[in-house]
Amino acid sequence: MTNSAKSLDCDAIVIGAGFAGLYMLRKLRDELGLTARVFERGDNVGGTWYWNRYPGARCDSESYIYCYSFDRELLQEWEWSGKYPEQPEILSYLNHVADRFDLRRSIDFNTSVVSAHYDDARDRWEVTTDKGEVIASRFLITGIGCLSAGQVPDIQGRELFKGESYHTGAWPHEGVDLQGKRVGVIGTGSSGVQSIPVIARDAAQLFVFQRTPQYTIPARHGTVDKAFLDNVKANYDEIWREAKTSAGGAPYTPIDRSALSVSEEERNAVYEDAWQQGGFKFVLASFNDIVIDPRANETASEFIRSKIREIVNDPVTAEKLVPKDHPFTSKRALIDTDYFDTYNRDNVTLVDIRESPIQEITETGIRTAAADYDLDVIVFATGFDAMTGPYFKIDIRGKDGVALKEKWSAGPRTYLGISTAGFPNLLMITGPGSPSVLSNMPVSIEQHVEWIADTISTMRAQGKQTIEADAQAEADWVEHVNAMAQPTLFMQADSWYLGANIPGKPRVFMPYVGGVGAYRIKCDEVAAAGYEGFVLA
Ligand SMILES: Cc1cc2nc3c(=O)[nH]c(=O)nc-3n(C[C@H](O)[C@H](O)[C@H](O)COP(=O)(O)OP(=O)(O)OC[C@H]3O[C@@H](n4cnc5c(N)ncnc54)[C@H](O)[C@@H]3O)c2cc1C
Repeated sequence: MTNSAKSLDCDAIVIGAGFAGLYMLRKLRDELGLTARVFERGDNVGGTWYWNRYPGARCDSESYIYCYSFDRELLQEWEWSGKYPEQPEILSYLNHVADRFDLRRSIDFNTSVVSAHYDDARDRWEVTTDKGEVIASRFLITGIGCLSAGQVPDIQGRELFKGESYHTGAWPHEGVDLQGKRVGVIGTGSSGVQSIPVIARDAAQLFVFQRTPQYTIPARHGTVDKAFLDNVKANYDEIWREAKTSAGGAPYTPIDRSALSVSEEERNAVYEDAWQQGGFKFVLASFNDIVIDPRANETASEFIRSKIREIVNDPVTAEKLVPKDHPFTSKRALIDTDYFDTYNRDNVTLVDIRESPIQEITETGIRTAAADYDLDVIVFATGFDAMTGPYFKIDIRGKDGVALKEKWSAGPRTYLGISTAGFPNLLMITGPGSPSVLSNMPVSIEQHVEWIADTISTMRAQGKQTIEADAQAEADWVEHVNAMAQPTLFMQADSWYLGANIPGKPRVFMPYVGGVGAYRIKCDEVAAAGYEGFVLA
């Protein structure tokens, strides 16, 4: 490919140096021998784990599967210290990977891609960075993340606030001293639930501005038992085989038992045991129908509600924390450490902004319909413009100058979440329409990276220059993704999966609910059938 593309600056440009971009670079440069350049906005590798340094930031996937599987030695040499790794540990891991495979020399840090235009006449992407550099490349591969475009709500008066304010996804690297301060946290999604208990320990006063009460399961962190880790390392082949063929990208054996098939007493005993063990096993290893059947789901939802009422001392606060407007797991499932207990602290106040909406941010704090809250620090734990947000921050234009933003104005349209018609050689890692955020993401990322690398390798062998989704195959996939999501409980909540956290965003369920195992089979079948549904030219 390098020989046939003399007018190109490189064979492939990869955007992003998180889990996706790093592995993509390794594949393209070191295995396929292509010239590849990576552009990364941050000044180092890590992606999510470079940006999200808020107090309490950690992973909800268990450490031994929140990593790459592609290198046996890497798997054997890295030692995780806990059940769920904290942000600094995952960042160290990704730095270790970058060093181990000498990846940094191909990455331009502190560099954002601002536009990428497809030149139809010459079949190449012209990519412009914020440094003013324009680079031509055969392939444009996005490892820009599903959750990398932070969302700060447009609250009137935000610029007037005289104190400090931070988004959890852009937390200062030097940390923030919250000791003895009056802190307001807006948002109770995953970042809020993780950070609130930790902030409460430092702050003089903490006000939590809650719009949506959450179901969250105790994580039960603990140091990973050495014997457990040794066992994992000895059995990694089998663990990855299970994870890669599972629905969620984790090697948990599904329980073949309905929540409605047992007595209430037995059911609650199962829930209690799962609650004590902690983590996502509450969902995956209790009953097989709590994420599918509304009646089964209600038994789990009700169990968690009863736990909230049990943990939180003040009944009025407890009732405000109890979710009643959406079923458990219809939003991203959360796990926490001491989240509900935190509301028993004297220095913590829950402010229900459904009841009394935020009216404005003032010089001194936050004004709701009911009261003024004087604050030194405002923390926006308000999440991300998920999945499409990072794409729309780049001016991506395909054939005939068509903007991706226009093409996706009614919701993202992809074939397999990898390609979109009219944008040849734009290949997306965990794009909308793939399992992505519904899975343990390193497993999904590896599958996409490997599929893309194999595709480029096949194209090279066959002398093909471009690959692009066929419009009909794309339409069929979009319909399939929607049809799969429609009957699920996911449609019953206003979640970021549906774009509901972004004013004006079309209400479209973006990830693919079919599961990583079934999805992998589909991608492999497509490739085996000569890239069915793609046009190779
Ligand atoms: C707080 C938090 C907790 C999470 N917990 C879990 C979990 O428990 N389990 C799980 O599986 N997943 C979790 N995730 C999802 C997580 O994003 C993925 O697991 C994984 O890190 C994604 O890797 P990535 O490389 O695809 O994207 P990212 O890690 O998001 O990296 C994308 C990179 O692209 C860069 N970039 C974007 N646009 C541009 C541009 N225009 N120019 C240059 N650079 C650009 C960004 O700076 C970023 O560094 C979590 C996410 C968050 C935010």
